[in-house]
Amino acid sequence: MIIIKYLHIGIDDTDSPDGMCTTFLASQIINEFKENGIELVDYPRLIRLNPFARFKTRGNGGVSLKILNDDKAELARRIVLSKVESLSMFDCDNTNPGVIFYDGEITKEMQDYAFRAIYEFITIEEAEEFGKSVGCEIHKFKKGRGIIGSIAAISLPLSDYTFELLTYRDSKNYGTKRQIDYASVYEMDKETFPDTFENIDYAEDYIAIEPKTPCPVLYGIRSNTVEALEVAKGIVKVTEPIVDWCIFKTNQHTDMHIQKAHDISGMKQFGCYEVVGEVKNKPTIIDGGHMFFHIADESGEIECGAYEPTKNFRKVVSYLRPGDIIRVFGGIGEQNTFNIEKFQVIQLNDVEYQNPICECGKRMTSAGRNKGFKCKKCGRKIKSDKKVPIKITRNLNNSQFYETPVSARRHLSKPLCRMNME
Ligand code: ATP
Repeated sequence: MIIIKYLHIGIDDTDSPDGMCTTFLASQIINEFKENGIELVDYPRLIRLNPFARFKTRGNGGVSLKILNDDKAELARRIVLSKVESLSMFDCDNTNPGVIFYDGEITKEMQDYAFRAIYEFITIEEAEEFGKSVGCEIHKFKKGRGIIGSIAAISLPLSDYTFELLTYRDSKNYGTKRQIDYASVYEMDKETFPDTFENIDYAEDYIAIEPKTPCPVLYGIRSNTVEALEVAKGIVKVTEPIVDWCIFKTNQHTDMHIQKAHDISGMKQFGCYEVVGEVKNKPTIIDGGHMFFHIADESGEIECGAYEPTKNFRKVVSYLRPGDIIRVFGGIGEQNTFNIEKFQVIQLNDVEYQNPICECGKRMTSAGRNKGFKCKKCGRKIKSDKKVPIKITRNLNNSQFYETPVSARRHLSKPLCRMNME
């Protein structure tokens, strides 16, 4: 029996806020691989890690490639290292590239490490020790922080995945306004949604496929299938050159960052969870437009936030009222507030307690503390001071999910249009 051996390649932390993108660097490597007859096994992977990682440039993504571990593997190693050396943004303090080569099977402990890189913080030392212990060949540039993400990028199992098509600009256009025909993006969304998603935020008239940074990406389209990306690429019109494009398999929009919490007290700061709780107070808005309320269960209580960038989502949140039971999805940030990405209504509290109606039809008023109610119209009095339950109409529905808009959504957040796909 012939055993096929693979070489896994992980690359991370090559870019800076001023330029480059690890996916572009990967596409340059893939091109040079092709020129040398080195084929990828499966798609290149773009793996998003802990959204709270301190040193991320933008979306905390690492890239991995898989090739046959044959007589060309040595050449492949040289190509990867020389591209990382020549294209990384070394001038930026926060750019500390790391490259990993690994020629064994991805083991359970490597998979566990990858999930830890999504859920927790890992130090460079820890990553290096772990990488060595499983037999990774480790290359650190400057501080080499990228090895943390590189090991995770090769190791993460993708039980659920999406694809992203990235097109790249001519370098002479970097930093200039992207020449994308927005009408064609609307048309593409109309034709390909929900196979593609996150293209446009209609409420904000925001074109989400267009990055807002000076990076090499012209646009990125996210999808469940490669076929839909091919259709989408044919529809989107641009009036500047596309020098290259690449499709990545990714854990974006899978909710892989969300852990199921048994109760509120079991959640930790900088973790992302789904948890069920009862709304304790009416959501209130503060200066700056952020909206907050508390949820509680038997184990404890936590403040939940819908921040200003979530725009109209705050309107939906404002419909919540004390006694509602909801399942929230999101992460606990810097201020120890649960930053909501989406929520599901489990049970609406649709009962309100009001003063009784008098026999004459007028709503009664309180006759004073512990003195029951009186009718201002006919003068009738009742001794009981018990309010009566009234069923009220709510603007929310039981079982329904409500999510933040595209413009404010995390790379890892699973949009509702993907929720019935498993
Ligand atoms: P882009 O999205 O443009 O690729 P980025 O946001 O991915 O940029 P990087 O330049 O990759 O940012 O920087 C993120 C850094 O954080 C990398 O060095 C990566 O190894 C590291 N990192 C990733 N996950 C963790 C983690 N769980 N704990 C600590 N560090 C992490």
